[in-house]
Order: sequence, then structure tokens, then C-alpha cells
Amino acid sequence: MNSQQLFRRSRLQLATWYALVMGGILSLSGFGMARALVQSNWVALEREIESTAGTLHDSLEPILPPSKDPTTVLQQIFPDLCIAEQPCEPSSTLIQRHTLGISDRTTYYIRVFDDQGNLLAYSPNQPQPLPTTLNPAPWQTLQTEDGSRYQQFTTILHSAAHTHAPSDVPHEHPAWGYLQVGRTLAPFDAELQRLRWILFGSLPLALGLIAIASWGLSGLAMQPIYQSYQRQQQFTADVAHELRSPLASLLATVEAILRLPPEQTAQVPVLLNTVERQGRRLSQLVADLLLLTSLEQNTTVKPTHPCCLNDIVADLTEELAELAAATDIHLSHHIPDAEISVMGNESQLYRLVLNLIANAIQYTPSGGAVVVSLAAHDRIATMTVKDTGIGIPIEEQSRIFERFYRVNSDRSRKTGGTGLGLAIAQAITQRHHGQLALASEIGRGSVFTLSLPYMPLQNLNAVA
Ligand code: ADP
Repeated sequence: MNSQQLFRRSRLQLATWYALVMGGILSLSGFGMARALVQSNWVALEREIESTAGTLHDSLEPILPPSKDPTTVLQQIFPDLCIAEQPCEPSSTLIQRHTLGISDRTTYYIRVFDDQGNLLAYSPNQPQPLPTTLNPAPWQTLQTEDGSRYQQFTTILHSAAHTHAPSDVPHEHPAWGYLQVGRTLAPFDAELQRLRWILFGSLPLALGLIAIASWGLSGLAMQPIYQSYQRQQQFTADVAHELRSPLASLLATVEAILRLPPEQTAQVPVLLNTVERQGRRLSQLVADLLLLTSLEQNTTVKPTHPCCLNDIVADLTEELAELAAATDIHLSHHIPDAEISVMGNESQLYRLVLNLIANAIQYTPSGGAVVVSLAAHDRIATMTVKDTGIGIPIEEQSRIFERFYRVNSDRSRKTGGTGLGLAIAQAITQRHHGQLALASEIGRGSVFTLSLPYMPLQNLNAVA
């Protein structure tokens, strides 16, 4: 499987997991909210039925007749109520007259039973067919043949005689009868249906959107990994490329030595010198690579301690004076008397400053000048390396800190550079929480400015 396929598969897996998790969460919360909504509607509906039944119950009880055959009295109380087993004249005004606060009289029906559970009377709008004997369960949900649903509430009725009897006298009959108040569930069911449509209609749409978003987001998430992978690939290719030339040259020289006729053995030391030079170059390249990797991986966290920049600059300008003099370059430094120290790793800081000054000397033609200056203000130590060299084109300036990047590969290969010097300098600067900036003009020279967080002396003494 090539890398493209691998990344595509990983992206697909990431998107699938993301869509599944997001879809699961969304579905769960959607169904949960719908359920809560239905539940609260149901509770409100039951409360409404209960309160209607309570109102009716309270207004009926005081006028209930004690008679064993109350149908005639009931007919007087409810002239529009149908009496059981008698022909019924439907009238819709009954509920309106007897249930205060009910606006829709077609919504409710009532039924009255005697204490034995036999139906005495019912409102004409009751659903058909309903049993004529009582089911005493307080709440019942009924469904008619045409699918209409009703919710029904049953409550006990006591006659005035029973209600006013002293509480310590046991009732001969525990109740006068039963009152049933029912309500159609059509509006509730319609609302439920609407909710289902919304839920099942919008869920696939939301899941589709989540799938699209997942694909896009997983692409975004994979991007840095893909870029890092490409950089790694490029780095491996660059390393192989950099190693190939010196290795090929080294092998060629060794072969030449081996094939040298006995009469030309005088040339052997010269050729061995070339082998040694190539070997050193390879060794330097490998050492630079290891250093860069360790700096970037942050694996070798060396203890930091105060490092005097004055000493580092003075030591290195002295060390490189010979190299500068060999190419007729004037190397000088401006170091303040006050000690400027930063917290860090001394050998790394030496390497950083060495790279900058060595580059300035390397890329400055004979007769030029390199000036290293050191200053500190506002808790920032600034070191500048200024040369009057060949300069760096503006379009290349952002890239020269990349590994193996050379402005002009020929010109820096000639100087023996590996293309890692500024990458190492940048990595060390970042490890020291500093900044490395460049200002350069082609043909006029370059200025590298290194800024590092600096602690005044008294603070450093406290740290030490
Ligand atoms: P090298 O080891 O090849 O010098 P560096 O990483 O140190 O690699 O430098 C990267 C590129 O920046 C090189 O191609 C070099 O030409 C250019 N460069 C670095 N310093 C200077 C400078 N002071 N003046 C001009 N060019 C420079």
C-alpha cells in the first residue's frame, strides 16, 4: 500500500469514527429530547383531565341523590345526558355547561356508574363501543376500531348523605358511584406524529451533513500529519542525496588507490588525503544530522546554566580570526563591559554563534568585513553578525533555515557546507526560547540578529 492510499484509508477511518460518534451523540440527544417533550405533554394532558374530573366531581357530589334508582334524578341534573339502555338524543351542550374551563366540548366525554359499576348515564359524544361495566383503574388508554385513542380517568363519587356522615361512622356503601372523564388523544397523537416526522426527516439530513463535515474535518486533521510525513520523506531523500556524493567520491578514490600501478605509489598519500577529507565531510554530516535530530526531538535535555555571551563571542572571534585572515576578511567584535549571560546550554550556544560567524566569513569575498556585536536591553540579549558579503536574495530568505536548503548549491558545496548550519542554529535558538532574524541585500551583505531572553546579573547569581 503506497503512502497516498494509506493516508486516504486513515482519513476514511477517522471520518467514519467521527461520523459514528457524532451521529450517535446527535441521535441519542434528539431521541432523548423528543421523549422528554412527549413525556411533558402527556403529564400536562393527564393533569388537565384530572383537573376537569375534579371540577365535575366537586360540582356533582353535593347534589347527588341517595336513591337506589337515580336515573330520573340524573336526568334532571343532566338533561342532555343519555341514560343507559334508553334511546339517546345527542346534545353537545352538556360538557360546556358542567365542566368549567373546558373550551372544546367535543374533546371530553363523561360517564356515570353506580357503586356496583353499572353504567347509569353517558355523554353522547363518548367513543363507541365502550363497555357498560366499570373498569375501576384510575387511568386507562382506550383505542377504538378506527384507531382513535382516548385517555380516561375514573374517580369515586360520594352522595351528600355519605359526605356529611361523621367520619367515625362506617359507610354502609363506600361510594355512591363512579365518574369517568375521558378525552380524545387526537391532538396529542397528531403532535406525536409531527415530532416523529421532524425527527426521522431531519435525522438523515443531519447525519448526511455530519458525514460531509467528518470527511472535511478529517482531511484538516490529516493535513499536518501528511505534511510532516512529506517533510520526513523529503529529509530522507535529502540525506541520501547528501551522502551519495561524498561516498561515491570516496569509493572512487579508494578504487584509484587499489588500481595504482606500483611505480606510482608516490601518489598514494595525496589520494589518501582526499579519502580523509571525504571521510571527515561524511562524519561531519552525520554528526550534524544527529545533533539536529536530538535538538528537534528534545530527547537530550541537558541542564541549563548561566552562559556568558561576552565570553562566547570573544572566544569564537579569536578562534575564527585565522580563517578570516586567510581570506583577507576583517573580523571584529563589539562587546560591552557588562556581562551578558543567558540561561542555556553552553556548547549549543557556542555552536550557534560559530555557525553564524563561520557563514559570514564563508560568504564574504576577500577584503570584506564581519562585525559581531553584543548588547542587552529590556531583558533581551541581542547578538548581531554583520557582513559585507554576497547577500541572500529576498525570495530565498525565508527558506535558508530549512534543512539542506542552499541559496545556490554550487556556491555552498564549494565551501564545504552541508546546508544544515542555519537549520541547527535555528533549532538551538528555539530550544533557548529566542529568535533568529535575517536582513540581507544582495551584493551588500547580511545581518543575522539573534535575540535571547536575558536575566540581569543579580537574578542569575540567585539562580546559580
Ligand atoms: P551551509 O552549511 O551550506 O553554509 P547553511 O545552512 O549554513 O548551509 O546556510 C544555508 C544557505 O544560506 C547557504 O546556501 C548559504 O549560501 C546561505 N548563507 C548563510 N549565511 C550566509 C551569509 N552570511 N551570507 C550569504 N549567504 C549566506
